[in-house]
Amino acid sequence: MITINENYLKLQASYLFSDIAKRVSNFQENNPEKDVIKLGIGDVTKGLTPASIEAFHKAVDEMAEDSSFRGYGPEQGYGFLREAIAENEFQARGADIQADEIFVSDGAKCDSGNIQELFSQDITVAIPDPVYPVYLDTNVMAGRTGTFEKGRFKGIVYLDCTKDNNFVPALPKEQVDLIYLCFPNNPTGTTISKEELKTWVDYARDNKALILFDAAYEAFIRDENLPKSIYEIEGAKEVAIEFRSFSKNAGFTGTRCAYTVVPKECLAYDKDGKSHSLHALWNRRHCTKFNGVSYPVQRAAEAIYTEAGKAQCKALVDYYLENAATIRKTMASLGYEYVGGNNSPYIWIEGKMDSWDFFDMLLNKAGVVCTPGAGFGTCGEGYIRISAFNSHKNVKEAMKRLTKALG
Ligand SMILES: *Cc1c(COP(=O)(O)O)cnc(C)c1O
Repeated sequence: MITINENYLKLQASYLFSDIAKRVSNFQENNPEKDVIKLGIGDVTKGLTPASIEAFHKAVDEMAEDSSFRGYGPEQGYGFLREAIAENEFQARGADIQADEIFVSDGAKCDSGNIQELFSQDITVAIPDPVYPVYLDTNVMAGRTGTFEKGRFKGIVYLDCTKDNNFVPALPKEQVDLIYLCFPNNPTGTTISKEELKTWVDYARDNKALILFDAAYEAFIRDENLPKSIYEIEGAKEVAIEFRSFSKNAGFTGTRCAYTVVPKECLAYDKDGKSHSLHALWNRRHCTKFNGVSYPVQRAAEAIYTEAGKAQCKALVDYYLENAATIRKTMASLGYEYVGGNNSPYIWIEGKMDSWDFFDMLLNKAGVVCTPGAGFGTCGEGYIRISAFNSHKNVKEAMKRLTKALG
């Protein structure tokens, strides 16, 4: 008899985006004359940069000729891309990361979901609340949790991110082994200072723990004092793995290219306390289960590091940041408390009411769609997330409507 992995039965169905879609279509049926502006889903809206498109086209043409055709490439990514990443993203900021510590992949979602299979079943996992759901669900699937009760899985150490701690979690009181952190944060849009991040690195070093640092939104950091990479923090290379993506900085959400940094010094332990290289383990996993990102996509990613590519990507991110500033200004003028939106595409707004009531109010009064915070965890109750991934025109119109409806 074929039996299933019953851990899958513990998963909570995510109704968040289907619930949103249902309420929006209901509204549209009842108000066919009104158009709805979507500031909900975390996907980019602007096209790829000309630098990436040019490199993409050229690489596609190379694939047509026997002499320049490429078949299977290195599983870890082509040297040209790994070198460009190491140099531009890390060495240029004083973080000593080498090309062979970069593993190119088809997404930070897959990598941040797959990484947990390197670790034993009985580790204690610390996960922020609210959170990007991948970290939690992949540990549920792997059997590291008990059942779901009152909005939380037994066996997980939740790191509450609330107004009281400015949405940067405090160190856990109990000992944990694996820690997920994401800054700039999705959904709250908050950032972490070097000093705060150092306390996590020190905790990990003192407890032989490991930090999984999701830096998918680093390109939105404009404050030069904030860390873009955890490897800007002294001592992090031994205790941290970092996830990066071309999705949000270069519009690759549909093109698919990302990378994970596993420094050679990064260690984990067997049950006898003997240390093992996580670089070697991840390399083994990657080569066994993954066959590389397509050559044209890697060329398109490499192009963001050319002079033109850098300027175009900066302009792309600046465009969304301008939206974020517009949203912040409007919410401030309406008297709402919020965080995020200055080094992040997300603004996290306190509604002083139930998340879904706040969502319905914005939809019904203004025809604006946001994301209810409760969909990201129990600490998200009472908040909504507004995303800056839209056109200037739509964001301006949405803010005009909010001002009229709520002012
Ligand atoms: C968008 C996003 C990513 C990027 O995922 P890809 O699979 O590379 O598109 C990673 N982490 C978070 C928190 C995100 O919001």
